Amino acid sequence: MSKSFDIGIESLAGGATAVREGRHGHLGSFAAPAEEELQKSDSSAFESDSRSASIAIPTDTKKSFYIETFGCQMNAHDSEKVSGVLLGRGYHAVENPMQADLVLYNTCSIREKAAQKVFARLGDWKTVANGKIIGVLGCVAQQEGEEIFERAPWVSLVCGSASYRKLPELLAQLEAGGRRVTGLDLDTDETFETEITRRDNPIRAYITIIEGCDYSCSYCVVPHTRGPERSRSSEAVLAEARRLADAGYTEIQLLGQTVNSYRDPSARKWKFVDLLRGVAAVKRIRRVRFTTSHPNDFHREIVEAIDETPELCDHVHLPVQSGSNAILRAMRRTYTREEYLAKIEWIRAASRPISITSDIIVGFPGETDADFEESLTLLDAAQYDAIFSFTYSPRPNTSAKDMPDAIPEAEKSRRLAVMNERQRQIQIARNEKLVGETFEVLVDARHAARGQWGGRTSCNRLINFTTTRENLLGEYVSVQVTRGGPNSLVGEQVL
Ligand code: SF4
Repeated sequence: MSKSFDIGIESLAGGATAVREGRHGHLGSFAAPAEEELQKSDSSAFESDSRSASIAIPTDTKKSFYIETFGCQMNAHDSEKVSGVLLGRGYHAVENPMQADLVLYNTCSIREKAAQKVFARLGDWKTVANGKIIGVLGCVAQQEGEEIFERAPWVSLVCGSASYRKLPELLAQLEAGGRRVTGLDLDTDETFETEITRRDNPIRAYITIIEGCDYSCSYCVVPHTRGPERSRSSEAVLAEARRLADAGYTEIQLLGQTVNSYRDPSARKWKFVDLLRGVAAVKRIRRVRFTTSHPNDFHREIVEAIDETPELCDHVHLPVQSGSNAILRAMRRTYTREEYLAKIEWIRAASRPISITSDIIVGFPGETDADFEESLTLLDAAQYDAIFSFTYSPRPNTSAKDMPDAIPEAEKSRRLAVMNERQRQIQIARNEKLVGETFEVLVDARHAARGQWGGRTSCNRLINFTTTRENLLGEYVSVQVTRGGPNSLVGEQVL
């Protein structure tokens, strides 16, 4: 059952980038308690457009960069691509921002706290910037724009994600002595293509297939910060998947804010489901995941594709956001509770078990006790394997910001606690039922102090297990479940 793992490409010394804030649930995977956090292998890898496994990147240059990432998996992968652009320009990565010539913050504005953190980070440089180039990327950059220069005059670069394709040009301006440069266009049909992408995760590789969003959920900043929906050509996505397979990756996750809204802009005109099957057919790729799906674009053929294609993982992340039709309407989610639950039924009717996870917001303006109760009963009906739950946070440039009947913070917190406890009981019951079952696990962590290894099943469950074997990172192994907790499983390797 095991398969050797070999990322046959160079590791980058001092290459780790910092990722903060956890994931925005819109692009989530199963929740895990802090003590279960994976101890990732610290190796990093990058892949180039070249079919050869390595590319000559000068590492003796004096130019160095540090990038810290906040927010969702889309941001984390954008940072991998930005790092690739910098490596291609002769920069090298450092782990300490004080040692860097260029310090970048790839930011998140999905919640007010995340945006505030960025300004706190910028404030740290007020007296010590000393000729460094400080840059703000991502959602806060797009949202605040040139206002950032007013609040933090030592910042030189402000660039939103829809303008990342312009980064080489903006960096050239800075290197030529430019004092303040911006990339804030939203009006684009282009995607962010790079010759080199630095890969921070040696086990799972990410491919963005669609950027931006054409929905207009009333609470969400994404259409404002990431711009309109743009899909990459199916050939570009397949070429990247083949390069990743050549580099030793066996698991790929396709990314997009609404990944299943994908529409191939090339003459081939593939739908999302065609792309899923195409990536799954790439030689040596054993697992394909995708996130995040919008319920409106979630069609039965996606379930059929998963059912028929073993490489497509047994997991769908389908954010519902509320169980109340009145609140779904106010959120402009474009589906009803009944329509959503019908899609859950399709997934549950598949011939192999597919785990389902979701995002839910509590305390949206006007949410009554009865509306909240409907969200709780939806948990019972959907039987999610995990949820990402959030209290509503009003954001600038969203139509919900000025809605009446705001829910007091204390009440939002109370509802969140009630919801989490209800879901916790569901997860305990679901995970206990798995005791005795055997799963194929891709090993991605070593918990030396506990004498355990960790990994994920195809259904994206975390499982920690014991074994007499060594050197398992990147291996596929069979593990029998011996115990089920609320957030993870415990097991033993089947030898
Ligand atoms: S679908 Fe809605 S919540 Fe998701 S990114 Fe688009 S606007 Fe935001």
